[in-house]
Amino acid sequence: MKKLKILMICAHPGDAFDDSGGTLCHHAMRGDEVTVCLMTSGTRSHAALFTDEKRKSKGERNEAFAGMDGAAITGYKEREIIAAGKELGITDVRFFEEEDDLLLINEVAIKKVADLIRELKPDILITHHPMQDGGLLTTHPIVGQIVLLGNEAAGARWTRDEKVPPHQVKQVFFVGALNGKPWSLSQSFIAQWRVYVDITDVVDRKVKALDCLASQRYDGDYARKRAEACDGYWGTRMDIPYGETFIPMLPEVHEFLPIMDSTLETNTGWTARIGRLSEFKAHMVPYKKREFFE
Ligand SMILES: [Zn+2]
Repeated sequence: MKKLKILMICAHPGDAFDDSGGTLCHHAMRGDEVTVCLMTSGTRSHAALFTDEKRKSKGERNEAFAGMDGAAITGYKEREIIAAGKELGITDVRFFEEEDDLLLINEVAIKKVADLIRELKPDILITHHPMQDGGLLTTHPIVGQIVLLGNEAAGARWTRDEKVPPHQVKQVFFVGALNGKPWSLSQSFIAQWRVYVDITDVVDRKVKALDCLASQRYDGDYARKRAEACDGYWGTRMDIPYGETFIPMLPEVHEFLPIMDSTLETNTGWTARIGRLSEFKAHMVPYKKREFFE
């Protein structure tokens, strides 16, 4: 099979890794070209290490943390994100640095997405579902909408400046940790996950990637609990230990009815199936705290 080019564009630092980190790791291991692009660097919404201190009164707070400005926090966050990518074998990480407290669908961001797609020429685009949480909250569906509009612009057959030729992505996969949040806004969109990826062999690398995102408290116990609760939940539904889920935008067309070898092999008895399903390792990954100051 030819090497694939895969571009993941997501809202916040954690999204690329907790929603699709294992899958992206598999593609990087196979030699595919994987790029992760962060629409925001999570400076205002995902930097509790610093922002919690800013909200404390003088005398109670760590002044070095409380005094860090937006640019310094962004720099710290981006060093964490680059390190998280390396844990998964992802070395091409891009930052759009849009604001994360208020992100609207805007022409500048759409054009940045279009330019990136024309530059990288991905076969596969991964992003948030545009209808997650009613298509409104949180920033995820807004990013999904920006990315889909950028994808459409990138594919226009006659681009405005003709500097970079148009490119048409072949397939889009949507991610989301669970079926949105259990809010009434989410009721209008019930995710139908169609593609499951078994990430059991790399779930330890995924936990280590989340360990890098300590400024948003995704390290340590959270990384392990998340892998067991979310990836483990999808796994148990598919008779595997740990899985990630995707919704393809376009239906896949086959010559024959698709069935995996592993699906055929699982008919080897109840004990073997439960034994495989019970593989339990994400919570045992050793934790090593890392700092990303410069
Ligand atoms: Zn997010």
